[in-house]
Amino acid sequence: MQKTRETSALKQPNGVARAPGPLADAQHQAAAGAQRRYLAGLAKAGPQAPKAGAAAGPADAEDEVALLEAGSGEAQGESGFSTSEDADATVPLNALVPDAPAAPEVAATPTGVAAVPPEKRKVIRQGSAGAEVEYAQERLNAHGATPALAVDGLFGPKTRAATVEYQNNHALSPDAIIGPKTWGSLDGPVSVGKAEGGGGGAGGGGGAGAKVLMYDTAVTTVTPPAEGTKKATVQKNVEAKQQAGDLGKTVKAVDGGDDALGAHLLNVTAQLGEKKRFASEVDLQTKVGYTPKGGGPRPDGKVTMRLDGEGNAETKLIGAGKVTTAQKFADLDAAKKGLMADFGFKAVVDGSATWTLPELNKVYAALLRVGSAEKSALAGVDLVRESTIVNAKGDSLAGEFSYSHGVATGANKATHAEKLSIADSAFAGDGVNFVGGATDAAEASFTTVLHEVGHAVEHAEERKTSAAKFDAMAAHNAAVDKVNTTNTAQSAAMKSARDGFVALPKDQQKTGMAFANASLALTNAWAAVAKNSTVAQHDKLVTAAQTAKTKRDTARTDLTAKSATHAALGLFKDANDRVDEWGTACEARVAAHKAQEKAKTEADAKVTGGAKSESKRLAKFRAFVGKEKLTPPTQYAKAEGMGEWYAECFTLWKNDPEFLTDQYPKVKKWFDDGEHLKD
Ligand SMILES: [Zn+2]
Repeated sequence: MQKTRETSALKQPNGVARAPGPLADAQHQAAAGAQRRYLAGLAKAGPQAPKAGAAAGPADAEDEVALLEAGSGEAQGESGFSTSEDADATVPLNALVPDAPAAPEVAATPTGVAAVPPEKRKVIRQGSAGAEVEYAQERLNAHGATPALAVDGLFGPKTRAATVEYQNNHALSPDAIIGPKTWGSLDGPVSVGKAEGGGGGAGGGGGAGAKVLMYDTAVTTVTPPAEGTKKATVQKNVEAKQQAGDLGKTVKAVDGGDDALGAHLLNVTAQLGEKKRFASEVDLQTKVGYTPKGGGPRPDGKVTMRLDGEGNAETKLIGAGKVTTAQKFADLDAAKKGLMADFGFKAVVDGSATWTLPELNKVYAALLRVGSAEKSALAGVDLVRESTIVNAKGDSLAGEFSYSHGVATGANKATHAEKLSIADSAFAGDGVNFVGGATDAAEASFTTVLHEVGHAVEHAEERKTSAAKFDAMAAHNAAVDKVNTTNTAQSAAMKSARDGFVALPKDQQKTGMAFANASLALTNAWAAVAKNSTVAQHDKLVTAAQTAKTKRDTARTDLTAKSATHAALGLFKDANDRVDEWGTACEARVAAHKAQEKAKTEADAKVTGGAKSESKRLAKFRAFVGKEKLTPPTQYAKAEGMGEWYAECFTLWKNDPEFLTDQYPKVKKWFDDGEHLKD
């Protein structure tokens, strides 16, 4: 309101009510002219008492100092959010295609549409164009539109198809129209990261001809040979597979001459020998012997099968018995408290499923492998148990790391939600698969837990600075509110002071004009500060206001010295007190705005920015694997992009360093050297 008036009233800030008709206009022009001249005079020489004898009459503005108009100004808050988002909205997150970055940050290319509540946003459909379409394209990409849409603001067939697919995947009616419901859903958080560890999924190896092995993360079981089966018998199955091209010429069972063990190891090879597993390592917990003479269960063992790129196999027993996990806690409550105390989780939450004590003891044992420099990535995160987790593409996930930071329009408090979620399927491989070697074999679920920690570490600095940025934005909004409430108060008080002054006898006006105008000039100076939204401009404007304040105080002292009972002193007392409160609020808001800008700069420094923004940590990893011409260590990393590649390497580095040393020594060294923590 004032703004409009102010704009035209820029020369006449704060709402001098314009009486209709030419005379009023002329009067107004005169007053505005006098004000311009007065302010110019002020700016040039600083406040000085208006020339003696200047009356605020229309007749001859030239020789009388006119009374200034009062200034008023509102500051503008901001809103925005980063969804898990990870990073800029134009990059598909879960539709992870090779080279997909980590996480979107809506704030990176705010279109303003984000600030409009979904129910108030324009309904768009094929043929629509403009900012709403651009924002919809960004959000569809963030939710995994594949291939990613060009963010061109034109609602064409591709955007239509992506909208229908999105609506199908999110229980919305697939009418290709983006209205309040679809808008609301598109605003929702997206998630980063999924792991196959124990969670099934494609798994498999590097395939025929691959020189480097992949780690097979799929849940894999074998049926042990019938009691007493001889190794030679199982050998026939191996030969049949070799015939079929599902195993290479060389098939070795490292059994040390123990025929029964040999039969079990060859049985694993014969059952798992398949082209899709060429160039892979599979770790199984399975039977490795027959019923002992003295009776009792058939012995279990940890068996590793490696197939090279030609299907040549070596299967060996790396440890007797099943994997055991330390049961650190005796009850659920203690386990939850322990996880929060030792790893910084904000809460351990039962989502669509309930944590069991064995599961929490496994998660705790897995997290003991997280280094002190990495642990901070879990601070403030909720550890959530879900029965199933499904991404935008409809894939079932074993785990997920998601986050959302933001400030809603006009809010003074930022919202923060960071979740590390684990689903039923993460534990599906426990007891049948394991990860690791002879000395550090662990349950397959460790792969999922530390995969998600890998995402948390990759995003850690980005999330931290993004959260700080939105906290600073919320703090700035709170300071803006303070500016605007004190502005309303000063504006009302100054209006009545000015009106009272105009009603004073001419001679009183004359002697009080300098003080009155200095008071009014200060309001214009603070109005400029309040309305300014360019950080670089703040200092200059604040200095001008502080100068105007000094001049007002001087004019007050001068008038008081001349006549301590002058009516103007009483008239402007309360108004000036209000103006000073407003001034203090303006200065506090400037500080908050600078802090917000600084936080934004720090947050921007943690991501690469631009259309393909990703965390600096992921960008470093991308550069490293590119330079070294490395290949992804799992099928999942290969299929789902750089963020997953980083997380899969992280979990293998933690859980199977032996495999990494053998197959990806440069990756092992990169993590050992702490390169993964550098931004
Ligand atoms: Zn992942």
